[in-house]
Amino acid sequence: MAARNGKKSFYEEAMETFHRAADLIDMNPRVRMELEEPDFEHIFYVTAELRDRLSPLDDAEIPKFKDLAASDVKAGDALEPLANGQYILHRRALLRSDIHLRQGVIHIPKMGFFRIEKGGPRKFKAYRIQHNQVRGPYKGGIRYHKDVSLDLFKTLAADMTWKTAIAEVPFGGAKGGIKLDPFNYSREEIEHITLRYIYKFKNFMGPFLDIPAPDVGTNGEIMAFMMRQFTDGEREHHKLRGVVTGKDVRIGGSEGRLKATGQGVVYCIEEWARDKGFELRGARVIVQGFGNVGSSAAEILAALGAKIVAVNDVNGTIHNDRGIDVPALVQHVHANRANLRRTVAGFPGATAISKDDFWAVDADLCIPAALGEEIDGPVAERLKVKLVAEGANGPTTREGDRVLAARKIDVIPDIICNAGGVTVSYYEWLQNQRLEHWTEGEVNRRLEQAIKKNYAIIRDVARNRPQRTPHYDSRPYCVGAEVDVRTAAMVVALKRIEAHYLLEGFSQ
Ligand code: NAD
Repeated sequence: MAARNGKKSFYEEAMETFHRAADLIDMNPRVRMELEEPDFEHIFYVTAELRDRLSPLDDAEIPKFKDLAASDVKAGDALEPLANGQYILHRRALLRSDIHLRQGVIHIPKMGFFRIEKGGPRKFKAYRIQHNQVRGPYKGGIRYHKDVSLDLFKTLAADMTWKTAIAEVPFGGAKGGIKLDPFNYSREEIEHITLRYIYKFKNFMGPFLDIPAPDVGTNGEIMAFMMRQFTDGEREHHKLRGVVTGKDVRIGGSEGRLKATGQGVVYCIEEWARDKGFELRGARVIVQGFGNVGSSAAEILAALGAKIVAVNDVNGTIHNDRGIDVPALVQHVHANRANLRRTVAGFPGATAISKDDFWAVDADLCIPAALGEEIDGPVAERLKVKLVAEGANGPTTREGDRVLAARKIDVIPDIICNAGGVTVSYYEWLQNQRLEHWTEGEVNRRLEQAIKKNYAIIRDVARNRPQRTPHYDSRPYCVGAEVDVRTAAMVVALKRIEAHYLLEGFSQ
C-alpha cells in the first residue's frame, strides 16, 4: 500500500488495531493472513450519457449578452437545479417556449444568463472491495462521493468484516461505490449510472454472495434501482429482494432501517450513560454530519431530552446554546427542495459559527457522523466533551485516539457504535427471505437487545471482567488484561471470525 507523504496509508493505519488485537489473542497465522488483505478488489469503469446543462455565465461575460431577448420557458420545472448552480435541460422545457439563443447563451428572467453545455458520454471510476466472507455473504454500503479511493474502500470493507462479527449477523464485509459528487447529477443520470454499475457488477453479487446497502451519497431510491437491475424482471423480484438492504419499506425494506444506525448510536450512548450514572435528559450534544446517521441520532436524542447545541456539515456549522429545534432542522435539511445540498447552513433557528469553533463548543457528547479522519490530534485537543460516539466510519485518527485517551475522553468505537445499520439490514434480509414484514417495535426491540449485549461484552473485555449473566457471556473474549475499548471491540470480532476458520476449516 502506497504511503501518503511518507505517512502510512489509511488502510495500514486502520489495520494497526487489527494487528494489536490479533497479537493479543495469538491468532492463528493463516487466519491472520486471510484477513490482512481483502478477498477481491474490483475496480471498474462505468459510462453513462449525461443530459445537456445550463451553466451560469461568468459575471465578466454577461455585459456582452445584455441585449439578448429574454426566453420564456413555459415548463420551468423541466429545468432541474443542481447544487453546483447548473440546471439540467430536459427537452420538455422547450415545448411551447419562446427561446432566443446567441452563441449558445440563453437569458431566462429571474434565473439569469446561461451557456448551454452539451451533455454526452462520461466515464466514472467504480469500486467494490470484498474483504471477507467466512461468516456469510459480503455485506456493506455503496458510497457516491468525489473523494473515494481503493485505500478508503479497503479500510471500510475490512471495517464491515469486523462490524458484522461484532453485531453477530451472518455476513462478511465489503464496501464500494463510485467517484462522483451525486449533487451535481440529475436524478435520471444517477439512475443510469447506478444501473450501469450493477450491470457490470451483477455476476459478483446476490442475496447469498454480496449485499450492498446505502452509505454516504446513496439512499433507498438508489437501492431500488440496484434491485431492479439485478433482478431483471418483475417475476423474479420477490425471490431476490434480499440482494440489497436499506430499501424503501414499501418494496421490502424493513421498518426502522432508515433510522437504525442513529438508533444504534443512541442505544450505545444509553449504555455508556447508565454505566457512568450520567443523565441524558439535558445532556449537551454536538453532531457532525446531518445526513442519515447524524439527523437520526439527533432526533432520537432530542426526543430523550438531550439538547443538540451545534451541528456541522460539509457546507456550514450552526450553533444554539439553548438547543436546536431538531424536527425543524430535519425539515430544513431533508424536506426543503430548495436546499439542494441538504445542508444545515441557513437554518433560521441558530447562528452560524466556524468549523473550528464547532469542535470547541462546550458539550457532553460529540457524535461524528460525517466522514473519516475528522478527529485528529489538534481536534481531539480542542474537544470539550465526555464522550465521542462514532456514528461515522473511522472518524478518529490514531493520533486523535491517543489524545482522547490522554484527556480521559471516552470513545464508543465505530464498529459497535454504528452497527445498528447492518444489524437491521440483516433483519431486512431475513424478512425478505421469509416474505415477512415486522413492526418497527419488533425491529427496535431486537436491535436494542443485540447492540446492548455486544456493547456489554466489549466493555467487559476492555475492563478484563469476564462474566456470565442471564443476557450474555463475556468469558470467552476476555484476554487476561485491560485493553482500550477499540482493541476490545476488535478482539470480540476476531475471536468470532477465527472460530469459523478453526472449526469449519479452509475451503479448498
Ligand atoms: P449521508 O450522505 O446521509 O450524510 C453525510 C453527512 O456528512 C452530510 O450531512 C454531509 O454534509 C456531511 N459531511 C460530508 N463531508 C463532510 C465534511 N468534510 N465535514 C463535515 N461534514 C461533512 O451519509 P450517512 O449515511 O449519514 O453516513 C455518515 C457516516 O456514517 C459515514 O461515515 C458512513 O460510512 C457511516 N455509516 C452509515 C451507515 C448508514 O446506515 N447510512 C451505517 C454505518 C455507518
